[in-house]
Amino acid sequence: MCIYTAHVRVCGICRNEETVLISERLCRSAQASGLFGSCIEGTLNQRDQTLTQCWQCKDRVVVVAMAQASKRTPGRRRRDSGAMRW
Ligand SMILES: [Zn+2]
Ligand SMILES: [Zn+2]
Repeated sequence: MCIYTAHVRVCGICRNEETVLISERLCRSAQASGLFGSCIEGTLNQRDQTLTQCWQCKDRVVVVAMAQASKRTPGRRRRDSGAMRW
């Protein structure tokens, strides 16, 4: 059986998929003719998935972290905790 493998990278945040590589492995009977999937068994589709973070999400994480850092002022923080009480 010939094996077709799609190597994909999946973003763990937005679930965006990106195909990195597609590999076709010919089995012995298909190698005789040199044609992928020409054997009796047919082909097997495989998925090789890697969990990652796409550049868009990486960017967003940095922006959020920077926005939080700039908001952090000691005076405001005290007022916020006082308003939390009923
Ligand atoms: Zn085959
Ligand atoms: Zn993403």
